[in-house]
Amino acid sequence: MADPAECSIKVMCRFRPLNAAEVDRGDRYIPKFQAEETVVIGGKPYVFDRVFQSNTTQEQVYNACAQRIVKDVLEGYNGTIFAYGQTSSGKTHTMEGNLHDTDCMGIIPRIVQDIFNYIYSMDENLEFHIKVISNLVSLSGSFCLSIYLPMCVRECVCGCTERFVCSPEEVMDTIDEGKSNRHVAVTNMNEHSSRSHSIFLINVKQENTQTEQKLSGKLYLVDLAGSEKVSKTGAEGAVLDEAKNINKSLSSLGNVISALAEGSTYVPYRDSKMTRILQDSLGGNCRTTIVICCSPSSYNEAETKSTLMFGQRAK
Ligand code: ADP
Ligand code: MG
Repeated sequence: MADPAECSIKVMCRFRPLNAAEVDRGDRYIPKFQAEETVVIGGKPYVFDRVFQSNTTQEQVYNACAQRIVKDVLEGYNGTIFAYGQTSSGKTHTMEGNLHDTDCMGIIPRIVQDIFNYIYSMDENLEFHIKVISNLVSLSGSFCLSIYLPMCVRECVCGCTERFVCSPEEVMDTIDEGKSNRHVAVTNMNEHSSRSHSIFLINVKQENTQTEQKLSGKLYLVDLAGSEKVSKTGAEGAVLDEAKNINKSLSSLGNVISALAEGSTYVPYRDSKMTRILQDSLGGNCRTTIVICCSPSSYNEAETKSTLMFGQRAK
């Protein structure tokens, strides 16, 4: 069993490499790393549970950020993994990466693989029902996918189809289809994909058919909207309103996390739609990991500092 004493919120920090545009512009690489948990920016140290330098592999990030939570979810705990940071800081790379490339896979496909491996390793008296719901928050093009194992997937992407899968790859293909459907809807809405949250839920239910013992755990995987200031995005009208909503939901999330980290008796879950959805998977007995994603470029120094401060509030 997982130890309840270990249920604190973990905050990890990941720096991506400089990208080609940043190198061409002559940006400086600003972070300095000390040991495994400290990064120094402009002379100020920021300490996290772990800091990942730019050359950290997807596998190393998975092992440190997600492996343990997946194990706990399979034992009936709830959990949430967030990626927070400005647009282009590496959130989607961290959460999804390349769904079909063994080395470049991010956290979500590795979790799907781990869960399949676990199911295959269990004895035959265990029956698994796994439900995957993608994009819970965005109202446009939301899609849900329910997997009933062994070997049956039921899917509804604006209408309903039913399908059978027997491998993690087939789950990835189905996720891809849902994403391309969502993409169409998003493009019609002024291309605000980087300014919306993406929430992916994996709900694992197990039943031992002999003892009738049941276990249920759920895991939210959240690729948050870019945290940059609205003024930078040059938004107007409906897009500006949407951007303000997003900033508000990110600050509500920050308030909930810092209330949990401080052990406050009052946690303001009801202040935003997202924190209401996540309520039973944040705090209490739940496993929470936040991956703070940062650009290493001098050009983004102000945003990077504000991202690091968000992460520090959770400690
Ligand atoms: P975000 O989702 O935060 O907007 P992305 O994950 O889309 O950002 O990353 C922006 C670009 O940087 C993508 O092309 C991505 O492949 C690349 N990238 C992000 N993180 C890394 C990393 N750790 N190593 C290599 N490339 C990365
Ligand atoms: Mg993204």
